[in-house]
Amino acid sequence: MSNVPVAVVTGSNKGIGLAIVRALCKQFPGDVYLTSRDPGRGQAAVAQLQQEGLRPLFHQLDIDDLQSIRALRDFLKEKYGGLNVLVNNAGIAFKVQDTTPFAIQAEVTLKTNFFGTRNVCTELLPLMKPYGRVVNVSSMVSSSALGGCSQELQQKFRSDAITEEELVQLMTKFVEDTKKGIHQKEGWPNTAYGVSKIGVTVLSRIQARLLNEQRKGEHILLNACCPGWVRTDMAGPKATKSPEEGAETPVYLALLPSTADAPHGQFVSNKTVKPW
Ligand code: NAP
Repeated sequence: MSNVPVAVVTGSNKGIGLAIVRALCKQFPGDVYLTSRDPGRGQAAVAQLQQEGLRPLFHQLDIDDLQSIRALRDFLKEKYGGLNVLVNNAGIAFKVQDTTPFAIQAEVTLKTNFFGTRNVCTELLPLMKPYGRVVNVSSMVSSSALGGCSQELQQKFRSDAITEEELVQLMTKFVEDTKKGIHQKEGWPNTAYGVSKIGVTVLSRIQARLLNEQRKGEHILLNACCPGWVRTDMAGPKATKSPEEGAETPVYLALLPSTADAPHGQFVSNKTVKPW
């Protein structure tokens, strides 16, 4: 078993994820795994970084596929005996002009952004080594979508006592409410992406609390963040930040020094803790 520290970035064959891998290859003292659901796209991205003189490693990972997540988990357990840095970056968003029915957009978006990310956490968080760092890439849109929720929902999503099961029930209810055409009547904002990212931010707050309760003394820090508005296939060419600039806050959180005890359980944007 290798004693080398290991970092994994989900959805890193392009966009912000690729920029995070590039930065970690330069700054993280260990093995950095570029992962992709499509091995061809992943290997092409690895080759691109190799051209730059960097040495990322590759592992397949489709966060929609529990078998794929578990294969990565078993690989990490066997080769490294755990994991030091996990960046949950993989995500999807329908384009504004997409005509796919809203209920389908809700189901598909929540499946990857919330349920997929949660499944990765369920399988990989138990592997986190002491002083591990976990970064869940959410979005400022989670804050604006929270503001668009009913008072009752806002209270639940801001609660310091909400459980993972309750959060899963709420995310499931959103998808069901869109199918019945009653989501706005039920207090939800009209954004599937926004609700999925509320899920990611609240999940992070819950997970950080559980780490405090169950693994106190292991110094693991877990946060949600917004990368900013970044020029990628998702956000388009008019966005204000380059992928490298978008990677700055996730990389900052992934490389918090071993002496740090904060931020933890926070929503971070531009390397600054934001109120939730
Ligand atoms: P992007 O260029 O579209 O890249 C998304 C990455 O996620 C791709 O590598 C994609 O792989 C991967 N992915 C999607 N579904 C996956 C799955 N089921 N399993 C594994 N990988 C999957 O988007 P981006 O702008 O870099 O976004 C990265 C993260 O930042 C996302 O979570 C996004 O919500 C968040 N974010 C972005 C912005 C922005 O302005 N760009 C702002 C706020 C937050 P494929 O190539 O196979 O599709």
